[in-house]
Amino acid sequence: MVSEKIQRKREDRTNSFSLSVQIPRKSRSKDRDNVFRDLNIIRAYALKNAVEHEGLAVVGNVVPGLFNHGLKKEGVGKIMPLVKDVVAEINGLSVEEQKVLFKKYEDLVGHRVEREGLHALKVGRNGIVTRFSPSASGGFHIGHALTGSLSYLYFKKYGGKFYVRIEDTNPDNSFKDSYKMIKEDSKWLFDGDAEIVIQSERMNLYYKYVEKLIKKGSAYVCECSSEEFKKFVEGKVDCGCRSSSVKENVLKWGQMLDKKGYEVGGAVLRFKSDMTDKNPAMRDFPLARINLNKHPLQGKKYRVWPLMNLAVAVDDIEMKMTHIIRAKDHRDNALRQKMIFEVLGKKFPWTGFLGRIHFKDMVLSTSEMRNGVEDGKFSGWDDVKLPTLVSLRKRGYNPGAFWKFAEQIGLNEIDKKMDKKEFFLMLDGFNRG
Ligand SMILES: [Zn+2]
Repeated sequence: MVSEKIQRKREDRTNSFSLSVQIPRKSRSKDRDNVFRDLNIIRAYALKNAVEHEGLAVVGNVVPGLFNHGLKKEGVGKIMPLVKDVVAEINGLSVEEQKVLFKKYEDLVGHRVEREGLHALKVGRNGIVTRFSPSASGGFHIGHALTGSLSYLYFKKYGGKFYVRIEDTNPDNSFKDSYKMIKEDSKWLFDGDAEIVIQSERMNLYYKYVEKLIKKGSAYVCECSSEEFKKFVEGKVDCGCRSSSVKENVLKWGQMLDKKGYEVGGAVLRFKSDMTDKNPAMRDFPLARINLNKHPLQGKKYRVWPLMNLAVAVDDIEMKMTHIIRAKDHRDNALRQKMIFEVLGKKFPWTGFLGRIHFKDMVLSTSEMRNGVEDGKFSGWDDVKLPTLVSLRKRGYNPGAFWKFAEQIGLNEIDKKMDKKEFFLMLDGFNRG
């Protein structure tokens, strides 16, 4: 239905496209940073909606798009008069005029369109805090692109905070060149929106939490060898170290940190869970170990390194994660981390699991790629034979193609098989569309 007012407007419209609606002066100075205040974004969505619906935009269809640009639910009431004015103005143009004008504004909508393929999440008023956590073993490949993009798309959908957290507390699996590659890949794939955090720069924080856990009686230093401990796990038996007092554990932890104390393999820090847990992986799992190998960033500064579950739990607590998407293979790790959260009285973030994609004929092992690059089998990480992002970027793929791929797969626990040809057919389609 075309209202009288709009009908009248259409009749006496001129051919000039001068748009007269302005941002109210008051809100412009007050909320300068709020992108959704940007009149042009509202125009872009109103034009898109109009072009798609025979010249008539509807306010209710324009507003959802603005959520992608930082509009919060509670801000809708305030922005509404402006949206109404813009929609009325756009509806006053002819369809031809709208089409011409939309070309000018199209980019603002661009990849920020609603992503209907994403399952809805339960989200608080401030959006979500989420992260993508690659290890410092190399640059991103298409596997990273899928998991990372999915978290990123949720951040885009709901707003909040998005971190790329480089997991490098294993000196044996961390390489100097990967930091730069991860930063560049992140900047490209996540449109400059990710905040980069490096775990090895947060060592004191992990140590602080170790002390907390020891003092709570939830962690102990174990001097058993890994073979011995494996037997205890299988037999659901406590090792002798488990009954040490807090005071003894504080002392032994000091000896783990001390150059003159334990040697490599002489002791590990364990989480005191339940040696009869029906899942053997949960039984007093390790939290930290001694590793004297040189770290690419920290050199020989630290001798005790947190293991993944400790570092991840501490960071997820400290960074106030609300939602985490992770590979299904990490289900046990998620349970271990949840135990750490619980003894510290913290609420565990919502966790979504992602099935694995088996690429039948593509190398997706970072160590294999690294070896190939070092041996000269590949000309570099950007070799066209490699499914790395730096290579695909060079070949003309856009970040949006990976986002669409991630959206297509969705937050899905089912494993999939795919071959190279199938994958690239899909990616090519997304790259054009
Ligand atoms: Zn022991």
